[in-house]
Amino acid sequence: MKRCDVYYGDAHAIKDVSIDLLDRTVTAFIGPSGCGKSTFLRCLNRMNDTIDICRVTGDLKLDGEDIYDPAVDPVQLRARVGMVFQKPNPFPKSIYDNVAYGPRIHGLAKDKAELDAIVEGSLKKAAIWGEVKDRLDQPGTGLSGGQQQRLCIARAIATSPEVLLMDEPCSALDPIATAQVEDLIHELRENYAVVIVTHSMQQAARVSQKTAFFHLGIMPEYDDTDKIFSNPSDKRTQDYITGRFG
Ligand code: ADP
Repeated sequence: MKRCDVYYGDAHAIKDVSIDLLDRTVTAFIGPSGCGKSTFLRCLNRMNDTIDICRVTGDLKLDGEDIYDPAVDPVQLRARVGMVFQKPNPFPKSIYDNVAYGPRIHGLAKDKAELDAIVEGSLKKAAIWGEVKDRLDQPGTGLSGGQQQRLCIARAIATSPEVLLMDEPCSALDPIATAQVEDLIHELRENYAVVIVTHSMQQAARVSQKTAFFHLGIMPEYDDTDKIFSNPSDKRTQDYITGRFG
């Protein structure tokens, strides 16, 4: 159970939201802008810790372990719960070093051959190996936007996370790059729980099996994606998906 409240100063941004995210499932967070989707997503790997005025209370567990327990190191947690952001943000380093970064800081490879294998495997899983294998020493920032985003996905999965969080990962991409990332999300689902915030209902319908609808800091409905888009239970969900607001 992942129940939580989030405050920015006095503003109550997330109000008692509970959700059980499923493994090997893509869960989409949809809802009008400013309703708390990103805020809630950031709770799941403690990215809100980096925002001074932000306070998170509740009970968020990963495999039964309270991720807000003071004994949990947020850096270790983020290796288990990876994140991909709206704008591709490769480090100003080589393609190889972008992917090797996490495994290096977490000591996941015992030698260079093992690190090479992790880098190659991650780039393959992110469906970009063929495009970059001959230029691993070149800067990640020199790739196209869609390639940069797939590189960031490779970087996020290089530490073998259990969960991959994606905050509007296609909003800066053209339609072809968007389709490539959506195909990739389908494949990632075989190994990870994927949570994607999207402002596009079409995208949610295409990529997810579960959908959570957010509205003014609460989550009125969470169900199978097919059900949400064909026969929602809550009037607010219905109004949103039929375009009455948002
Ligand atoms: P969404 O992802 O659905 O667009 P957000 O999670 O970004 O919504 O925002 C939810 C609410 O929290 C909004 O009212 C927003 O203004 C507020 N908020 C988000 N980030 C911050 C921040 N860093 N500081 C203060 N308020 C914030």
